[in-house]
Amino acid sequence: MLVIGLTGGIGSGKSTVANLFAEKSITVIDTDQLARDVTLPGQAALHKIVEKFGEGILLPDKTLNRAQLRKIIFADPHKRRWLEKLLHPLIRTEMQQLIAATKSPYCIVVIPLLLETEPNPLIKRILVVDALEEQQIWRAKMRDNLSEGEIKAIIYTQVTREQRLAAADDIIYNNGTLEELALQVEKLHQLYQAFN
Ligand code: ADP
Repeated sequence: MLVIGLTGGIGSGKSTVANLFAEKSITVIDTDQLARDVTLPGQAALHKIVEKFGEGILLPDKTLNRAQLRKIIFADPHKRRWLEKLLHPLIRTEMQQLIAATKSPYCIVVIPLLLETEPNPLIKRILVVDALEEQQIWRAKMRDNLSEGEIKAIIYTQVTREQRLAAADDIIYNNGTLEELALQVEKLHQLYQAFN
């Protein structure tokens, strides 16, 4: 199975590109969604998070307060590493199961921090969605209602565009229209099918 790791900075267009592949009936695995799944109420990981950070890390409905957790780990690299050590193996197991069940000719795994975290041997090719920083800021602002400063702070915790481009096997340039984006996805769809 050809497994493509799809990555890119905040607001670069990863989800938009992933949706275009999904429209072609290609299996798309979203690791952000898996991270949410493994920390649902009743999951062992949520108990461990509460043990470490206290009941205050839960919302009134007993689900994880992700915004709060994000703030804590953003401010403390030790806590971030603790959380990664807890969640990454669980996410990988889920990912492996979904890959094994894939029926499409290849699959796309969306991993926002693919290049910031340990390499995953399941990923055979790296597809980078690239956008100019001003585009990233504009799109993330429109979508998340964050300030320019907040978006820049996130951009500076991620690898640089140059580092991402250097690691890429394939690149989608998302500085134009959605039509231009769809054309690039179609070309890669042809390429990836030809691998099988
Ligand atoms: P990411 O998943 O990388 O954070 P998204 O795919 O969610 O980025 O894109 C961020 C926002 O920008 C979304 O609201 C999306 O609809 C919009 N967007 C992405 N690419 C384009 C484009 N080429 N033209 C117009 N809007 C776009």
